[in-house]
Amino acid sequence: MTHVRHDRPTWAGRVPRHKIAELYKKDALGICDEVLIDDVGIGLLVRIENIFRARAANSGIASCPLCQREIPHDFDPAFLLCCESCNWELTWAEYHKSKQGKYLIASGMDPFLKEYVEQYRVARSPQEKMILIDTLIHRYHWELEGGLSGPGARNLIGGKPNEVIDFLNQLSYGTSSSPEILATRQEWLDKVQKSRAQYAEAIKERERKEEKKRQKAEEKNRRRTLREKARQAGQAGRGNAGESAR
Ligand SMILES: [Zn+2]
Repeated sequence: MTHVRHDRPTWAGRVPRHKIAELYKKDALGICDEVLIDDVGIGLLVRIENIFRARAANSGIASCPLCQREIPHDFDPAFLLCCESCNWELTWAEYHKSKQGKYLIASGMDPFLKEYVEQYRVARSPQEKMILIDTLIHRYHWELEGGLSGPGARNLIGGKPNEVIDFLNQLSYGTSSSPEILATRQEWLDKVQKSRAQYAEAIKERERKEEKKRQKAEEKNRRRTLREKARQAGQAGRGNAGESAR
């Protein structure tokens, strides 16, 4: 009998920030580094494919880490995922654990991730690829819906959401940057500003609601005190009336 394999799936990590910084530095100077463009571009492509694979697994279709064959499961932690052709098996619990904490999230970036995959696969020139990379990493989650809830790059480039915004703000631009890239830069700065304004407004709205709640509670308390006083005054009045009747 052949040996059964239990490989845990591996997931492509986020693209390192230093590679992106290097890409923009060169682009701003008019240097076309095709190897670096492909390194970043394909890194993003593989990352996105892994995000989609993780999402499929979370929806009930895992895949064999050796041959990528789809394996349906029922979410029972003890469910045994099996691939007969690779002689591989692993419990759903183990499989699920392998993707946790890896930021494999599509969420409001879904349409942009799909668009990137479709277009990058057929892009030929390095300039075309550079624009696709640039467009993708400057997207916001839910930006088509006007939500601007967080930078999409946080699941594609290493770092915390705020670090990612600062990082993108500090990328290099120059006279050699293409008009498309400079236009995306301007749009990005506008989105950051709009997103921050939305966030500040949400905080104000929450404060307004809390203040309203506090005022309502205060009013309720005041009425209760008044009622209590009226009740006590009534009792005292009845007591006095009783005494004078005697
Ligand atoms: Zn397999």
